[in-house]
Amino acid sequence: MSQHIKIENGGYPKFDVEKITEGIFHGDVAALGRGITLVESQHKNHGPLAQQLIQNCLPKGVPSFRIGITGVPGVGKSTFIEAFGQTLLQMGKRVAVLAIDPSSSISKGSILGDKTRMETLVKEEGVFIRPSASGDNLGGVARKTRESIILCEAAGFDTILIETVGVGQSETVVHSMVDFFLLLQIAGAGDQLQGIKRGIIEMADLLVINKVDGDNIARAHRTKADLDNSLHLYPNKPSGWKASTALCSAIEKTGILEIWDILLDYERKTKSSGYWKKHRDEQNKYWLLQTIQNRLQSDFFGAEGVNEKLNDLVKEMAENKITPFEAANLLLDQS
Ligand code: GDP
Repeated sequence: MSQHIKIENGGYPKFDVEKITEGIFHGDVAALGRGITLVESQHKNHGPLAQQLIQNCLPKGVPSFRIGITGVPGVGKSTFIEAFGQTLLQMGKRVAVLAIDPSSSISKGSILGDKTRMETLVKEEGVFIRPSASGDNLGGVARKTRESIILCEAAGFDTILIETVGVGQSETVVHSMVDFFLLLQIAGAGDQLQGIKRGIIEMADLLVINKVDGDNIARAHRTKADLDNSLHLYPNKPSGWKASTALCSAIEKTGILEIWDILLDYERKTKSSGYWKKHRDEQNKYWLLQTIQNRLQSDFFGAEGVNEKLNDLVKEMAENKITPFEAANLLLDQS
C-alpha cells in the first residue's frame, strides 16, 4: 500500500480517490483503511477528495446491520467483540469494528489503539478493525465514524460494530448511527447500574451481563432479575421493541448465539413494522442537518476578519457599549 502514498509539499499524503474507490469496491481492506484516513484527514485540501470518495461509496453499500456496543471500561467490550465477531465470521458475515472514543483526543490513546485488544479477531479474514478517529471534539469524531461506516459498507462489510466507552455523551452519538444498541454490564453487588446513566439504559435495546462464569454465575442471575424488574419502569421505545437482558461470558464464549438471535429478532420485527427504514431515514436527516450546521459554522468562523471583529465586539460588550444580541447580529450581517 505504501507505494501509493505520495507526499505533497505540505507534508500531507496525497490520495488517489479513483484507486481507493476501486479498491474499496473490491473489498480490499488496505484501500478501505486508506479511504478512512482520507475521511479523517484534517487537511483542507482533503475535504473535497473525501466528499468525492463518500459520494462514490454511498450507492454501493451492502445491506448492513449497524450495532452499537457500550459499557464502562473493564466490563469486557473488547473481549466480547472478539467472541461475538468470531461467531459472526463463522456465519459468513463480514465484520467491521469502529470506535468512538471521547477520551482519545485528550489522552491520544484510543480504546482500540492498544494493540493487545482483539488480537485474535484482528488476524481473521473478513474483519476490519479501526481505532477511533482522533479529533478535537466528539461531533467531529462522530461525523468521521459515520462516514467510515459508509466506506465499510461499500467494501462489503455487512455487520458494523461501533464500540464506545459508556461514560459520557458518546453513547448518544453512537445511538444516532446504529440500528441496535447493546449495553454491556457485569453482575454487581447492589450496584446494578454501575454508574451508567438512566438515559443510556433507556437507549439500550439489550442489556448483556458479561462475565457470567466461575463464582459470578449466581450473582449474575440475581442481577439479571433486578434488571428485568427495573426495565418495566422504562418508557416504551418508538421502535415498539422491548429491551431485555441476556447473560454471557465473553471469555468462555457462552451466550453469544442467544444474543445474536435477539438481534435477529429485532431486525425481523422492526423491518416488518417499517421502523428499521424509518429510523435510518431519521438518522440520515439528523446527519444532513448536522453537516449543514458544521459547514455553516466553519464557513462563518473561517471567513476573513470574523475573529478580529469578534474580539472587538467582546471588548465593546465588556464596556457595555453593545449587547450580545446586537453584536451577534452585526457579525452575522457583515459576513
Ligand atoms: P473493556 O475495557 O470493556 O474493553 O474490557 P476488556 O475486554 O479489556 O476486559 C477487561 C477485563 O475483563 C480483562 O481482564 C478480561 O480478560 C476480563 N473479561 C472480559 N470478559 C470476561 C468474561 O466473560 N469473564 C471473565 N471472567 N473475565 C472477563
